[in-house]
Amino acid sequence: MDESTRLSAVVSTAAPRLAKERDLHTVGDLLRYWPRRYRSRDADLSALHVGEYVVVVADVKQAVTRPMRNRRGRILTVTITDGSFDMEVTFFKPYGHEERLVPGARAVFAGEVSRYGQKWQLAHPDYQILAPESEGLDKDRGLIPIYRRVPKLQNWTIVDSLNLVFDQLGDVPDVIPADVRRRRRLPDRLEALRGIHQPRDWPHVQASRRRLRYEEAFVLQTVLAKRRREQALEKTVARRPREGGLLAAFDERLPFDLTQGQREVGDVLASEMARDTPMHRLLQGEVGSGKTVIALRAMLAVVDAGGQAALLAPTEVLAAQHHRSVTQMLGDLAEGGMLGGSEIGTRVALLTGSQPTSARRQALLDVASGDAGVVIGTHALIQQDVSFFDLALVVVDEQHRFGVEQRDALREKGKQPPHVLVMTATPIPRTVAMTVFGDMETSTLRELPAGRSPIATHLVQGGNSRWVERTWERVGEEARQGRQAYVVCPRIGGPVDIGPSGAAPQEEEIVDTPPEPEDVLDRTEDLRDRSEDTQDRAEPREWASVYAVEAALRRLPALAGLDIGVLHGRLSPEEKDLVMGRFGGGEIDVLVSTTVIEVGVDVPNATVMVVMDADRFGVSQLHQLRGRVGRGRHPGLCLLMTDTEAQTALERLAAVAGTTDGFELARLDLEQRREGDVLGSRQSGGRNQLEFLSILRDEELVEQAREDAVAVVEADPLLARHPELAAAVADRIDEEQAAFLERG
Ligand code: ADP
Ligand code: MG
Repeated sequence: MDESTRLSAVVSTAAPRLAKERDLHTVGDLLRYWPRRYRSRDADLSALHVGEYVVVVADVKQAVTRPMRNRRGRILTVTITDGSFDMEVTFFKPYGHEERLVPGARAVFAGEVSRYGQKWQLAHPDYQILAPESEGLDKDRGLIPIYRRVPKLQNWTIVDSLNLVFDQLGDVPDVIPADVRRRRRLPDRLEALRGIHQPRDWPHVQASRRRLRYEEAFVLQTVLAKRRREQALEKTVARRPREGGLLAAFDERLPFDLTQGQREVGDVLASEMARDTPMHRLLQGEVGSGKTVIALRAMLAVVDAGGQAALLAPTEVLAAQHHRSVTQMLGDLAEGGMLGGSEIGTRVALLTGSQPTSARRQALLDVASGDAGVVIGTHALIQQDVSFFDLALVVVDEQHRFGVEQRDALREKGKQPPHVLVMTATPIPRTVAMTVFGDMETSTLRELPAGRSPIATHLVQGGNSRWVERTWERVGEEARQGRQAYVVCPRIGGPVDIGPSGAAPQEEEIVDTPPEPEDVLDRTEDLRDRSEDTQDRAEPREWASVYAVEAALRRLPALAGLDIGVLHGRLSPEEKDLVMGRFGGGEIDVLVSTTVIEVGVDVPNATVMVVMDADRFGVSQLHQLRGRVGRGRHPGLCLLMTDTEAQTALERLAAVAGTTDGFELARLDLEQRREGDVLGSRQSGGRNQLEFLSILRDEELVEQAREDAVAVVEADPLLARHPELAAAVADRIDEEQAAFLERG
């Protein structure tokens, strides 16, 4: 028997339930039905508390069946005792229990304790009759695994089913090579599975969990080690900088000096692109640290060398803004081939999903002919009908919205693999970088350009009308001094069909609602089922919407006479462009918007941001949002409005107000998320999700796994001597691709 054996062949009675209720069909499925927690066998009846889950071996002292007082039917009340303390056990459907729970019977009972009158009670617990005078099920086993309930099955049945499975189970394939196991003192897979389902004691559970954690880290790191190796063997065209070209001309026009960090990163990029192996580099840097300039210089270097560069942005607003600012920064350098344009110049094409057909056709032509050296766009760039003349460099802006697969899809647009630069403003803890971006080298910009003003952040509680009033006065004051404000809302609201086309939303507006506290579990201690936990959560009230807030602001005396605009993803691209253009040009004083302005939007004259219902946003998201203000000469002010009274939410907001250290906040944010979200596998739902590993907490393990994986891949690149590992790796890659296609 092995993991692929049908459960029906082993546990015939329980199999249909396990299949129907929990989708468990094979022995392997059941082996991966992890216990949610453990109970020690020897519960002490003298020290109980309500809601506690107990497992107790006890004797039946008395059993009475009587009609119920207020309802039809009968009730069976059984008094049990462990010798010193009594407890009451009740069943509302006595049938089947009466003949078994007779005085003198010994059984092990498991269930949640409640209080009934003066007595402790277990209402319809699981139980199993034991031989008289027996001590318990297995004397040598001290812990009982407690599984997520399967309707109409007792916990014991699951335990028994697993016992049957283990009795017959042959060899279990192990993805971790024996020498690695030895060196890291890890049990083999079979032993670990036993330790989870049939633990001798607590250390047995711990060692087994450690092994399963390591296994997840090891497979992940092997995938990455293989990817890195394959990348190192790839050949591409070296793009060497040219003197007196576009880049040189651009540098001459730059109105500021590059910071030390910008220069250093620039040099690294130049030298990596001058090699014939493709660059794979991640650039981290706080909002406003000047990443875009670095990227643009790398793009121009590539154009100088005869190639094309593509800049991939996460939203249409951002793509359009990049297009505008790049074109503007380049000036006549962006008018290559046009009358009056510079001789060394090029063209900057914009490609988005919803642009008019004629514009798109022209852009596609410029991209295919190579007339456009710089191409800026959204996901539309990945589409099939886009072909490049000679794609040399791909820059991905704000990585957290793009997966590995999207990067790959764009890479395939080159005749040879292009160089890749990924930029992110979300600081990434080391082990996460090692995992999520494990196939890339990392650079970090640590300083902000000189003369940047600090951002002050304050919490404004909606209940305090003085503060709320003062908030809008402040907005008014800034606007009257010629500066501008953002007001960010979690919802759009208003009429559903907006815009001439009545278009569906053009891009997702992600309100990154942090999980409720009960979702944030110590998964290593308690693999609780979350769908159960989230069922009866209260309906949220309506959150502030763009249109409702706009209407309210128009009535405020504090903002009288100011120009108020709205921006959100449901506007048509032209409308969005128009609004952003007017805001950028200073015509709009107060912009009420959704999170479409979250990443990268750059209007240096904007100094105040008010975030409505700030508790609806994640920590990193708030940090990103406030990065939109204080980008110019004047200090930035961010006001976080909230009505929440939830302690955790207030703490989160206080943390954002208390520090501008993005690294610290990113860590906080990640701790509040599920690991799956961090890895972007939210949608996959497959069985390759991390179940034991915590990328944040298991730092040492991730590092060890990485080291081991690199060694294994080095010695055996095709994993020919490690078929189990090869299969697990292939499985993981398949799943990533499937998830990608699904999202399409
Ligand atoms: P990021 O993309 O990292 O958020 P940007 O590249 O958009 O940052 O830069 C933010 C602003 O700072 C832009 O207006 C840019 O022109 C300006 N900037 C970039 N580098 C410098 C520098 N070295 N000195 C002064 N201003 C700079
Ligand atoms: Mg940017």
